[in-house]
Amino acid sequence: MANDTSSTTAAPRRGRAAAAASAATAAPAPPPDPREAVAPLLDPRHRRTVGHLHALAASPPQVVLAEGGTAAERMALALYWAALLNCESPEDVPDDARPCLSCPSCVRMAGGGHRDLVVLDGNKPSAEEGSFSIENVRALRGLLGEPPREGRRRVVVLVDAHTRVEAANGLLKSLEEPRPTTCFVLLAPQRERLLPTLVSRSFVLTLAWPTDALPPSPAVRDWLDALVEFIQTGGGWMERTSRKGDLDAPLAAAVVLHCQRALADVLAGRAADPLGRLLAERMDPARLRRCDEALAAVQEALSLSPSPVNPALVMDWLATRLFLGVR
Ligand SMILES: [Zn+2]
Repeated sequence: MANDTSSTTAAPRRGRAAAAASAATAAPAPPPDPREAVAPLLDPRHRRTVGHLHALAASPPQVVLAEGGTAAERMALALYWAALLNCESPEDVPDDARPCLSCPSCVRMAGGGHRDLVVLDGNKPSAEEGSFSIENVRALRGLLGEPPREGRRRVVVLVDAHTRVEAANGLLKSLEEPRPTTCFVLLAPQRERLLPTLVSRSFVLTLAWPTDALPPSPAVRDWLDALVEFIQTGGGWMERTSRKGDLDAPLAAAVVLHCQRALADVLAGRAADPLGRLLAERMDPARLRRCDEALAAVQEALSLSPSPVNPALVMDWLATRLFLGVR
């Protein structure tokens, strides 16, 4: 009975707000096997992101925003993070063995049913339990005034946060008073689809794009073409980046992500776009690896918010590296 997490036993003492949030917890029903639940994040493409989560765990930011990847990979990140923050492994267990995914806390955080895991899903109709409705967000705000029920940190996951702008606004208000025992995880395909005020409060983690991701937008395509031209001719690029305001951090990050996809295609021996073909033609494996490192460094710089770097200068650095790397 000690592990009974059903809302019916707890609701009368916890009031309406807690009951609503508890109902939200139970609704999305992730796979009951915690290993299965986090498996999409353990793809080698996400090694770097997992490393970031471990680095952040000592002093977790109030809001983590996970973008990129697939919906399943973003959800796996949220559950992995929830388990990592609450894993009950003894202190002498090495960091890379956490989350253990077998202690009672991990099992219920990653596998579902933990009383400190709240999941609101923007894809659900408002009337449904676990939806990202204004009522549920309001109820959640009530719950946030209370300490976690059984874990070290409550984890509130907002799935496809961009689909419910009003509810996200409601949530923003609750973020105005930081609560160190609560961590939010916002999941969205791209940060540009969220309110800028929400993004600016978040530590942004960008999952590697799935290989079947959508083709680049026209603006991104335009920059990718310019990059190809620069790598081939050494011209045209700096004139573009020096036009003030043309290349902001989100656009630069999108360009970098598509470069990473192109490189991933090359490294996997798949059909590549013009940039990928250019890299494949001119770089040996060692250079391709350096190219990968340069892209990762740039992605990291651009993903911090507020961005400490000038996106145009960072992209000039990257373009120059690619230009020199293929000579
Ligand atoms: Zn554990």
